[in-house]
Amino acid sequence: MELTLKMKVREKTKWKIQALRDAMDSFRQAVNDWIDVAWKHKITDRTLHSLAYKKLREKYPNLYSNSLQDAMNWAIQIVKTELKVNPDVKPKFDSFMISFKNVDFKFENDGFVIPLNGKRVYVPVYVPKKYYKWLVNGKFGRLYFKEEDGEIYAYLTVKVEDKPAYEPKLWFGVDLGVQNLVVVADNKGREVLRFDGETVNHYKELLEKERARRQRRQMKYLNNRKFRLGSKHRNFSKYINHIIAKEIVRKAKEYQACIVLEKLRGVKRRSAKMPKWVRKLLHRWSYHDLIQKIKYKAKLEGVPVIEVSPRNTSKTCSECGYVYKRFKNQRLFHCPNCGLIIDRDLNASTNIARKGMKEFNKRAFLPALKGEASSPQRR
Ligand SMILES: [Zn+2]
Repeated sequence: MELTLKMKVREKTKWKIQALRDAMDSFRQAVNDWIDVAWKHKITDRTLHSLAYKKLREKYPNLYSNSLQDAMNWAIQIVKTELKVNPDVKPKFDSFMISFKNVDFKFENDGFVIPLNGKRVYVPVYVPKKYYKWLVNGKFGRLYFKEEDGEIYAYLTVKVEDKPAYEPKLWFGVDLGVQNLVVVADNKGREVLRFDGETVNHYKELLEKERARRQRRQMKYLNNRKFRLGSKHRNFSKYINHIIAKEIVRKAKEYQACIVLEKLRGVKRRSAKMPKWVRKLLHRWSYHDLIQKIKYKAKLEGVPVIEVSPRNTSKTCSECGYVYKRFKNQRLFHCPNCGLIIDRDLNASTNIARKGMKEFNKRAFLPALKGEASSPQRR
């Protein structure tokens, strides 16, 4: 899988920072120049190169040749998309960034050596500890420098080998509810994890403590944007999502379980019927982000993940299988068929886990039927 590692540039030397900013500025202008040419001639492939490369090479002597070509590739992509979406208005590229191909930079001594103004320039970055394993073993893709809120960040794409997923012994259904944010239950109906308002407050307190601790130690450089500047809320829910995802994946690995998620489409559809404040809450909570985080962390840990349709998962009785069509998301699910009374989120997550187990076994069984000789390890 491909990871993107984000590292803040630590360089304080004025001329280096200026050179980097100048290069980013030239890159942005070069992309816009390429867009002009592509737009004028309606060309969106590499033949664009011969039309303007020489001229632009002279215009931007501080851009390395591969960066100038990358600028062209960006322009081609932008024009291509724009011609489909909005063919009357010429697009404009306004990101403040520059990209380098992997042959053009090196990672050493916690920094990148990049070509700037015809020289090899060393730009140090802050490297989070957990990145080292990927910086040592991963295969580098592109390196970007990008300005955000007045700071320059390096983004490095790295290809890392997937850990092979284990054969699951258990299934963990993840229910994304409203009152209880996230409830996880296994296919046997046992509650595994519950994250609710209390959990959130607990982590909010922890975060405040962490903030204070960082201030005391003057570790301003550590994620200071996250803790100091605005958009606090978004960052807090991302932080909570990170904690929830991490815990779910850790638990799944411990029990050799497969994580079963509802396909997101269902969450959207379900939320469309809800009152505005609930939709707002859902939106704020950014389920999409949580699901992405779970998938991403699971992949890194070799934990299998399966997605199932959300159809009737909250309306089915996890005891007798009766589908209670008129059930309206009350806190308790009361089955009119067998009389079961159960927490609605526990009921839903149990159903999700079982759905996932069925789906998983179906998929595992099908290839065995098609080619029995080729897969003798399947029972
Ligand atoms: Zn029932």
